[in-house]
Amino acid sequence: METVIALAGNPNSGKTTIFNSLTGARQHVGNYPGITVEKKQGLYKNNGNSINIIDLPGIYSLSAYSQEEAVARDFITDSKPGLVIDTVDASNLQRNLYLTIQFMEMGAPVCIALNMMDVAEKQGLKIDVPKLSSLLGIPVVPIIARTGKGKKELMDTAIESVKTKPEQKPLAISYGEDLDNALFEMIQEINSSGFLTDRYNPRWTALKYLEGDELILKLGNEAGSQVSEKLCSIVQKAADHLHKTLGTTPEAVIADHRYGYINSLVRQGVIQYPDDKERIYISDKIDMVLTNRFMGPVIMFLVIMGLYQFTFKYSEIPVGWVENFFALLGETAQIHLPDGLMKSLVISGIIDGVGGVLGFVPLIMFMFLGISFLEDTGYLARAAYMLDRVFRFFGLHGNSVMPFIISGGIAGGCAVPGIMAARTLKSPMERLATLLTVPFMNCGAKLPVFALLVAAFFPGNKAGAMFAITLVSWAGALLAAKFLRMTIIKGESTPFVMELPPYRLPTFKGMLIHTWERTWQYIKKAGTVILAISVILWAMMTFPGLPENISRDFETQRESVISGDPLSAVNKLAEIDAQEAEAALRYSAAGHIGTALEGLTQWAGFDWRTNIALLGGFAAKEVVVSTLGTAYSLGEIDAEESSSLSQRLASSPGWSPLTALSLIIFTIFYSPCFVSVVCIAKEAGSWKWGAFSVIFNTLLAFILAAGVFQSGKLLSSAVEQIFGHIIF
Ligand code: GDP
Ligand code: MG
Repeated sequence: METVIALAGNPNSGKTTIFNSLTGARQHVGNYPGITVEKKQGLYKNNGNSINIIDLPGIYSLSAYSQEEAVARDFITDSKPGLVIDTVDASNLQRNLYLTIQFMEMGAPVCIALNMMDVAEKQGLKIDVPKLSSLLGIPVVPIIARTGKGKKELMDTAIESVKTKPEQKPLAISYGEDLDNALFEMIQEINSSGFLTDRYNPRWTALKYLEGDELILKLGNEAGSQVSEKLCSIVQKAADHLHKTLGTTPEAVIADHRYGYINSLVRQGVIQYPDDKERIYISDKIDMVLTNRFMGPVIMFLVIMGLYQFTFKYSEIPVGWVENFFALLGETAQIHLPDGLMKSLVISGIIDGVGGVLGFVPLIMFMFLGISFLEDTGYLARAAYMLDRVFRFFGLHGNSVMPFIISGGIAGGCAVPGIMAARTLKSPMERLATLLTVPFMNCGAKLPVFALLVAAFFPGNKAGAMFAITLVSWAGALLAAKFLRMTIIKGESTPFVMELPPYRLPTFKGMLIHTWERTWQYIKKAGTVILAISVILWAMMTFPGLPENISRDFETQRESVISGDPLSAVNKLAEIDAQEAEAALRYSAAGHIGTALEGLTQWAGFDWRTNIALLGGFAAKEVVVSTLGTAYSLGEIDAEESSSLSQRLASSPGWSPLTALSLIIFTIFYSPCFVSVVCIAKEAGSWKWGAFSVIFNTLLAFILAAGVFQSGKLLSSAVEQIFGHIIF
């Protein structure tokens, strides 16, 4: 088969000049069938190689708005040239790369002829060619077409590339959470039905649907109208959502992210501008401060701290309202429901369990509002950009940053979409390391656990405590990643390009919609999954109930109290009731398990009640709160006074700030919730990794928690000996 190489590029990038100098007089000019677009073919001969070269029309994009674009695109998909030489004007790099990355997204084999090097040099631009090549992962050859300089190297590289066919995976740029999710859904649909897969790579087809590309839509309708309709409905959903939240279209978001991708690529030292010539846009000006090497991280810390301050400060009062509401609900049930199992289920299982989780809705809402602001302005992408360097040091990849942040890197995310977002990682090793460490982030489900413990034991500086929790989880995640990458998942690290979309002023409405969507998910989960688990755990904490002889013992105690002094009887009766409730809880199925584990968990300071809660947390982390709620409601020490769970914990014997600290550490690191484990297994392609994450994380969590608890105890007893009083 004869070798065909296509020359592509922006108009005036020097394509024809290259073409002429390669083919000389061996040219043939015609038209593409049926249209006026010129088709130029020529033969390149050298060293016994004979290559057919096609000079494609000059274009800026592959959107098929013009005949030229459609011709170039169709030629590549239909004739499948052995290589596309993309002529890029070096003096106008960013704009020209816009086309390059679209070829790469299409999955075409590409090599860059970096033309006009003389012009770039005259302008004082210094381009790091090897860096550009390694960041893009394709060959880049600098040339000056007008003088023929670099022509030979270009063709040597091209021929080499046609012969060896190095594997080039289609480029997969992240287009932000909304579009990435839509793309993911569409690609699954396309793959499962083999829709147009003989012509286009699935991601490309999906992208073209999002862009509303008429040619592809028409082809798609002919190929299978059912699939096509399904894709369109996914697009419609994503488009509506973007319109509502950001007032923009998928097409604009895609273009933004492509430019963002190029921008950040070029920023990584690919171009050095002469000092006076650097073109500075507003976004770039802001970035000079916000992503500055020294100021950037400081500002980032302040921003996150500010977010926590904002969240805790403004949510305190509404959290109180919601807590009061549930307390009132509990009291009402207490008065109106007849004694018995039903009453216990409603009060201890549902109101004190689920109510505990719902109590944090205002806090979650404020947290999400702040995060939506950071996300919609584009700041979150900058945070990720700054963290890239840190990540690489720990064996992760710049593309791991977004999964970390989505999983709750700042607070209140979810590991499940975080795990999905790790798809943008190409290297399997870096991807695996990311999958295994994102569950350490503080997802929205852990947030109520932290909020509960912080409110109970560190009320003086809630935002500071939350900030410390964030730092601990990051340090742990990064160190764990480093450890994994040095031991069981070794492998090279790959270069990284992060997309930096321009800064935008978010709309208030868009932020409210984002906030509400996330809050509603939290509420929905509390009302369904958490409610179900709560009821199951309530049952486990209620049955089988006290055996006959023991409850008779309590009964006789009561009788003897009643026959005695009537004044002290009320108090004594309440005490006996509480003792009986605690005995019953201990005697329950869950109580047995919790007690059995105490021998081990006492090292970390967890009693049997906490053990039950933590076991529940394997299903979903909110359950830790709901179960503590139920446990302290069933075994209520002081039934007369209705108080919030955090007040109950703070006044319970056996709880101290040190216990809370140990529990916080354990909660950060122990097993991902059930859904996350399933996702990890699916994404890593093996159940082995799901099981690994359960065991590894729980072990790590226990070692850390026990370490903290034991050293805290040692420290406090040392301090006690020296100063003679107790701090813990
Ligand atoms: P096309 O539109 O991509 O086919 O571009 P052409 O080959 O027609 O070139 C456009 C203009 O750029 C012409 O005036 C060329 O002489 C000029 N040109 C092409 N390559 C170079 C180069 O490497 N350096 C300089 N200085 N000019 C070039
Ligand atoms: Mg031309």
